[in-house]
Amino acid sequence: MGFACEDIANAAVWYHRSVAEDLEELARRLARAVTGHVDGVLKVFLPLVESRGEHRIACGDGCSACCANFVRCSVPEALVVAEWLDDPAHADVRARFVAKLPGWRARAGNDPTRIEAHLARHGGSGDAVEWDAYQKMAVAYARKQNLCAFNDDQGRCDIYEVRPLICRSVYVLETADNCVPDRAPPQIVSHPALEEAFREATHRCAEAAARIGRDPEPHAIPEAVARALGLPGLTPMS
Ligand code: SF4
Ligand code: SF4
Repeated sequence: MGFACEDIANAAVWYHRSVAEDLEELARRLARAVTGHVDGVLKVFLPLVESRGEHRIACGDGCSACCANFVRCSVPEALVVAEWLDDPAHADVRARFVAKLPGWRARAGNDPTRIEAHLARHGGSGDAVEWDAYQKMAVAYARKQNLCAFNDDQGRCDIYEVRPLICRSVYVLETADNCVPDRAPPQIVSHPALEEAFREATHRCAEAAARIGRDPEPHAIPEAVARALGLPGLTPMS
């Protein structure tokens, strides 16, 4: 029995879609694995920071000034979030995000495109002048107080369970008062093992994105997830 052209075309579409879905699943698995490693380091490191009673980690429930910073994530991380949002059990979170996204985009304006273009041109150069220019752009962005579209009305992360690497790797000591622009820098606490785990994780995610034919550069979290969900109205990106 012969196949009609339409059958062959449908089979080809099905095949390509299946391959794409398999590749995305591999990227998600990689992102989950490296995130698990970072979490494992944090599980040991964070209790040690407070163990002598000399320091207190300020980051906690409802503390969200840092969510107005220019924070980015990779394609594999965004795919993990998108899959979580597509679970019917999280339909309310997805709906809140879709409703908030236009407002976040309007306040962000052209800044994500400008900042990401600057990072793409100069990010790895080590040029102090360009780094300073980036810092100025990042501070100007933070001054807008444009909270991430995943921040709920109580200042909590709506996708806490699957939040990207950057959101789970930065901790500040004593007070959140300096986590806003135009103050003294916050006292960020870290450890070589955490820095190494984070570096490795972001490197692996970039590699995984490239391997599935996607942009290896990270993008602003709401925009990266909107892309992963296939939502319309993307801001142009370099
Ligand atoms: S980084 Fe600053 S604003 Fe963000 S959770 Fe920690 S203390 Fe709060
Ligand atoms: S994903 Fe969550 S923790 Fe990260 S910036 Fe957005 S609201 Fe904040």
